[in-house]
Amino acid sequence: MKEIGTFNDEKVPSHKRKLFNQKGCDEKEYPNVRDKTGDDEQTQGKRLKAESKPDDTVKTSKRQSYLSWDEYFLSIALLSSKRSKDPDSPSGACIVDKYNRVVAVGYNGFPKGCSDTIFPWQTGKSKTDLHSKEPYVCNSITNAICNKCSDDVAGCRLYVMSFPGSDDAKVIIQSRIKEVVILQTRETLDFESPSCDEQASRILLDMANVRVRYYKPSIPSITLNFLAESSSNLIDKPSQEPSHNDLLAISTSQKESRASQLLLEEAKYDVSNIPDNGRRKDYISWQDYFMAMAFLTAERSKDPNTQVGACIVDSEKRIIGLGYNGFPQGCSDLQLPWARGNKNPLDNKYLYVCHAEVNAIMNKGSANVKGSTIFVALFPCENCAKMIIQSGIKEVVYMSDCYHDTDGARASRIMFQCANVTLRQYVPTMQELILDLTMGNQYGAK
Ligand SMILES: [Zn+2]
Repeated sequence: MKEIGTFNDEKVPSHKRKLFNQKGCDEKEYPNVRDKTGDDEQTQGKRLKAESKPDDTVKTSKRQSYLSWDEYFLSIALLSSKRSKDPDSPSGACIVDKYNRVVAVGYNGFPKGCSDTIFPWQTGKSKTDLHSKEPYVCNSITNAICNKCSDDVAGCRLYVMSFPGSDDAKVIIQSRIKEVVILQTRETLDFESPSCDEQASRILLDMANVRVRYYKPSIPSITLNFLAESSSNLIDKPSQEPSHNDLLAISTSQKESRASQLLLEEAKYDVSNIPDNGRRKDYISWQDYFMAMAFLTAERSKDPNTQVGACIVDSEKRIIGLGYNGFPQGCSDLQLPWARGNKNPLDNKYLYVCHAEVNAIMNKGSANVKGSTIFVALFPCENCAKMIIQSGIKEVVYMSDCYHDTDGARASRIMFQCANVTLRQYVPTMQELILDLTMGNQYGAK
């Protein structure tokens, strides 16, 4: 915690941001991610000129409104909190390695097997009030670390919505996380009356040399628009999935009656007297969550015309890969063309750009993606289909199928079916999802 209280020390002031992006400095914040070739942009530009012969070509510059890495990772934490059933303080956490790969995501909730619909969600009088959530709930940081898809989180960055408590600080230090980035929702940082718990946390993080940094997003909110990607009548189709109520009905059986019995015997907490355990009602479904993660990831794309994101999820519902369409690592966003429709194919983006599915697979945080499901806004092209099949992905959940009648899509469908990859069209249950980046403190309040 070397720089506590500094105001966005690494963040460029918002009025300079446009210029900052134009210079491509955004990526240079994390030099490992790009520019591995050692080429500077001038050299790359010369090479490009030599290979293609620019004359009357249409120049298209990169998109300016993409999310910075910090904004993106904090938004993942915020999106994750939308899965939480906690009515008062839903929280989310996102852990990122040195290559900017997401290796863990989590939200606060009861441990596996402990029913969300039976255990109490009320806030308690003490940490051991057995009729409240406190003794049972796992916080988002613990859940993220336990839910990681990589071998470990040593040396990683953690993105959270509020200052971690002392229990969190212990887990952060012991797992060897090296930096904590906190969503800053107010103009100034005041630490006038921190609780004893928070003070202990600051002492621990400081002694353990964990860097703490606040980040104030340059935008108040992010709107993920599901209908922009598809035909507007999609939302009216009946859902192919079992509804949330059906799923609840299945789980309300043995597991829940056992939980009720144990709570009565050990905690004198009679569930039958409390028909509603106080859980939050507007949390999002797994399907909506993973597709929203793909849409959020698309917001990192520099392509001015098409932004596509992909999210790979394993059988334990862990996010193991995220990707968006863009040029290969080390290939400049500023030098390569973003144009379409030029006569010379070398002046168009298509020969250079990697699709979101390929990037998600290559960018995975886990050892492999075998048996997983990929969520993607657009039905995969034939190249991505090959990569999806060869990497062992078993299910494709897509939203738009606007290229259905092209030969590329036909080839994809043939190969997917031969390889027994399940195809499922996602039907959005909402028109848009708003991630309010000004809400961090309210959510995270202890
Ligand atoms: Zn593709």
